[in-house]
Parts: sequence; C-alpha cells; structure tokens
Amino acid sequence: MTIAASFTHRFVEYLPNVLEEGILYVSIRFRTASHLCACGCEYKVVTPLSPARWLITYNGASVTLSPSIGNWQAACRSHYLIIRDKVHWAKDWSEEQVEWASRRDARELLWQGSTGAGGSAVQKKRAGHPSKSRRKPLMPWRRRPD
Ligand SMILES: [Zn+2]
Repeated sequence: MTIAASFTHRFVEYLPNVLEEGILYVSIRFRTASHLCACGCEYKVVTPLSPARWLITYNGASVTLSPSIGNWQAACRSHYLIIRDKVHWAKDWSEEQVEWASRRDARELLWQGSTGAGGSAVQKKRAGHPSKSRRKPLMPWRRRPD
C-alpha cells in the first residue's frame, strides 16, 4: 500500500496474474499494458494498446502511457498520467493540462512514427528528383548542336 511516484516498466510476453506494485507491465505480443493503481489501492489497471485506446511511447529509457489513466471503477477514483515512468497526478492538473499532456505525447508518438516512415519517403523523393532534373537540362543542350 504505497503511493507510486514512478513506475518501472517491464516488457513481458505474458502479463502475470499477480502484479507487483510499481511495475508497469507491457506486453507487445498481446498489445496490453497493466499495472496496479498508483495510489496503492492494488486495483489492477489493464490498458489495451490500440490506436483508439492507449498508446505506449518507449524512448529507450522510459515509458509514457497516454492518454491519462482514470480509475473510475476503482474506489479511489484515481486519475493520473504516466509520463516517462513518472506518475503525474491529474487531480492537480486542470482538464486542459491533462489534454495538453496527452496530446503532446501523441504528437511525440506521431513524430517518432513519421521519422521512421518519412525516411523512406525522403529517399524516394531524392531518388526521383535527379532523374527528372537531369532530363530537363539535357533537352535544350541536345537540341543546340542540331
Ligand atoms: Zn487506487
């Protein structure tokens, strides 16, 4: 029964039946994250990972879960965010701040996703451009000697 100030993320294949306090379990295989409520009430929070539900951002060192966790079904009705493994209590936050934080995390996630996909798009553009620009200056140059 301790209030968690931060979580230690643990990537697992299967989520254990009995969760340890302060551990944020992430199963990529089953697209689910799970942890015990940060207030220490031992309420088991299950957050399915999907575009419509929760997003996990892993920066190589810590994990961000967004949007916020609202344990309205638990007696404690805790509301918090897990940003870079740290617990941010949403009760101290205004609605806008909560929204801003989850939007910012979503942006970070989008940005991270777009650098991966954008890399290949840039390469395609680069590969397409030289052949186009090469053809254009060649045409008038070829005509001149004729
Ligand atoms: Zn709780």
